[in-house]
This record gives sequence, structure tokens and C-alpha cells, in this order.
Amino acid sequence: MEQTELSMEEKKQMVLSMCICKTCPSWKECGEPGGFCFPLIGKSRCIDEEKGCICGGCPVYSEMGLSHIYYCLLGSEKEQSGV
Ligand code: SF4
Ligand code: SF4
Repeated sequence: MEQTELSMEEKKQMVLSMCICKTCPSWKECGEPGGFCFPLIGKSRCIDEEKGCICGGCPVYSEMGLSHIYYCLLGSEKEQSGV
């Protein structure tokens, strides 16, 4: 079967491999993988304070044309865009 687009799972793995959340001042280590901008991942269950967001400097941000921040607290790009 020909596949022209990456599957959601492949995209998720790509996002996780590029995510820089773990170096963010707001990051709290509790075993989460990051990638909160991605709809299949969504909000963090342990990050609870805005101490700065470095998403704008992440390769995923430009790659996926993102426009929001604080995905860990406010939800994925889709969720924050209301779609
Ligand atoms: S844009 Fe933010 S949440 Fe998304 S992968 Fe990059 S650092 Fe992680
Ligand atoms: S989504 Fe933004 S604020 Fe949250 S951990 Fe990732 S870089 Fe930091």
C-alpha cells in the first residue's frame, strides 16, 4: 500500500524526537515525554506553572507552522486554535 503522508504515530514520534520541552524552565520531571503541542499527546499532568516557554525555538514549531505557546498547560495547537 502506498503511503504519501506520515501516519499520526510516525508524526508523534517525529515530534517527540525533536521536542525541547525538557530544557524549558517550566519543565517538571515526572516521566512524561514532552510533545504537548501534538493533539495525540496534549497537556502535561505535572507541569503546573508558567516559568517561560521555549517552544518558539523548537524545530517542531517552524516545521509544523505552530502559533501558540504553553502547550503543556493550555493544550495542543489544535485545542488552543479551537478546532
Ligand atoms: S513545540 Fe514545544 S511542545 Fe511542541 S515539540 Fe517543540 S518544545 Fe515540545
Ligand atoms: S510546552 Fe512550552 S512551556 Fe511547556 S514545557 Fe514545553 S517549552 Fe516549556
